[in-house]
Amino acid sequence: ANQNKYVTISGVSFINIEKSQFLNSILIPRIKNEEKTFIVTANPEIVDRTIHDHEYKEAVLRSDFTVADGVGILVAAKMNKMNIKERIAGYDLLVDLLEFGNEERLKVYLLGAEESVNKKASDHVKVNFPNVEVVGRHHGFFDMNDDRIAKEINETKPDIIFVALGVPRQENWIHNNIDQFNKGVFMGVGGSFDVLAG
Ligand code: UDP
Repeated sequence: ANQNKYVTISGVSFINIEKSQFLNSILIPRIKNEEKTFIVTANPEIVDRTIHDHEYKEAVLRSDFTVADGVGILVAAKMNKMNIKERIAGYDLLVDLLEFGNEERLKVYLLGAEESVNKKASDHVKVNFPNVEVVGRHHGFFDMNDDRIAKEINETKPDIIFVALGVPRQENWIHNNIDQFNKGVFMGVGGSFDVLAG
């Protein structure tokens, strides 16, 4: 099958790369260079939504990288005679980034989920990745026009901002705010804080 660097499914262009390579040859250098980066980990629900939700499509297309989160995307690629090398799950990427963050003493910001879940996820990071500095956190039930969170991110300068607001809010929030920031990896992580909180 075809081995292109990108595979397009319903207008969404997926980077065709293994998770380890995505991390080591793309994300880590970009973090070290403080290059602002917006990642979408897209499953079939996300691709479907871009078809009828124009605002959401704009957000997804604005991302720097869309990775294939889900076997459904790999199956859709195959049906188009394309081959995507590997699934890259948002939760797995989050854990890999926390491990790297622990080695490099990175700063992270946790945005999203219920307050109690957000707090537990933050505590989990502090215990399991002790060198990661959680420079800020906020629950995910706020007014999209409230700019206090963006202000806090600008002040605390995290290297990685995990955004757990679910689809479509997480990508829309990143899209609406990313122009104000000078650096940071921004990634929607869905229900990952609920998993971290246990
Ligand atoms: N969430 C949030 N604000 C919202 C809606 C959802 O913070 O306005 C959180 C929710 O508490 C959960 C996460 O987003 O922790 C993912 O939600 P869901 O499972 O509904 O989204 P999906 O993973 O399907 O995108």
